Amino acid sequence: MERRVLIAGNWKMNKTPEESEAFARSLLFLESTADIDILILPPFTSLDRLGKMLDETGISLGAQDIHFEPGGAFTGAISARMILACGCRYVLVGHSECRHVFGDSDETVEKKLHAALDAELRPILCIGERLDERRAGDTESLLSRQLSIALADVQSKAMDRITIAYEPVWAIGTGETATPAQAEQACAFVRSWVASRFGDAFAQRTRILYGGSVKPENAAALLEEPEIDGALIGGASLDVEAFAAIIDAVPGGRR
Ligand code: PEP
Repeated sequence: MERRVLIAGNWKMNKTPEESEAFARSLLFLESTADIDILILPPFTSLDRLGKMLDETGISLGAQDIHFEPGGAFTGAISARMILACGCRYVLVGHSECRHVFGDSDETVEKKLHAALDAELRPILCIGERLDERRAGDTESLLSRQLSIALADVQSKAMDRITIAYEPVWAIGTGETATPAQAEQACAFVRSWVASRFGDAFAQRTRILYGGSVKPENAAALLEEPEIDGALIGGASLDVEAFAAIIDAVPGGRR
């Protein structure tokens, strides 16, 4: 089963609206990349501007987070409906920085995932183990726990809108990358988990990304792995040449 590769750039807390627009314009040459989905995830304050600018281009827009409530007294929060109105199609839920810096629990991540689905967005569910959990041999049990809580009440047909990103916490922003074999093993485990919960047909259609210090130098080896359907990229997505080089590293991708 052919799954379309997704290359997503998470800009984290970087760039003003003006800087975001200039940077996004410099990425437009990538939109002719017919066989790969390209997504950028700028800060909230840039979404409206970029939604207008990227409309009808080949580059999709997403947000880095949402609140799970549709509206109300939640000072500082942004709802799914708000980002949709800015032109977003995707949203990250459960990014490790939201889990470990802002304290999102598995239950909060589940609520955010449903808020995204209810708004007809495409959530990218981020999961991954910390270094101590990997060293203790708990990677698979941790991934199972994160998946089973986040996807507890998801109907099978909604799986066609969900992407899963395996992002080991110890590899995010650290310069340390999972080896292709480690990343492949974890992504294969995620697919087998999806197969056991939703059936093999859904599992074969589910996109599973790897994220954690992906760079031009390691992208080809990671993206060649059969269970890795793309990459979620932080630091290297802030450099046009590095982001383009990662896209070029997709087997059969941009030529
Ligand atoms: C991320 O932000 O999801 C990420 C993987 O960051 P980095 O590529 O910088 O490790």
